[in-house]
Amino acid sequence: MIFKKILVAVDDAPISAHAADIAAELAQLAGAELAFVHVIDAELVNAADTGIQPDVFAAAAKEDARKLIDDFRKRLPQQLAALEFVPIGAPHTEIVKAAKDLPADLIVIGSHGRGGIKRVLLGSVAESVMRNAPCPVLVVRAKT
Ligand code: AMP
Repeated sequence: MIFKKILVAVDDAPISAHAADIAAELAQLAGAELAFVHVIDAELVNAADTGIQPDVFAAAAKEDARKLIDDFRKRLPQQLAALEFVPIGAPHTEIVKAAKDLPADLIVIGSHGRGGIKRVLLGSVAESVMRNAPCPVLVVRAKT
């Protein structure tokens, strides 16, 4: 199997659970390593109108991200460990960077997440990742 390292991009939208389940199943079948990436959006961290200091906001967001990833870990089969990346930045840029750093042979991503209404056919993050990824990208649609 050509996939040795699989990176799954997760946010807090339900489709991420579906993407993570597929990534975990593929990782098991391929005997591949799995890694999660959840990007803390720098635009939110630096938004002036939250009234929260950026470093305070970033620390709270990191804590939330770890809890989010822990919830995804609980869905994994017992014998499957996973790395995690929790960078701060633009989601599409940081997902591609994590894929290069791993380095991933496959990125699994949801077709739409929280930003779903920005694009009708494909979420803006998914589209940008597909255009810039260093490896194949598996785009997972919501269950119908
Ligand atoms: P969107 O373009 O926001 O509709 O999101 C499409 C997909 O990109 C989601 O289903 C996730 O797999 C991924 N994604 C979006 N935002 C993030 C983020 N902040 N961190 C990691 N993955 C993300």
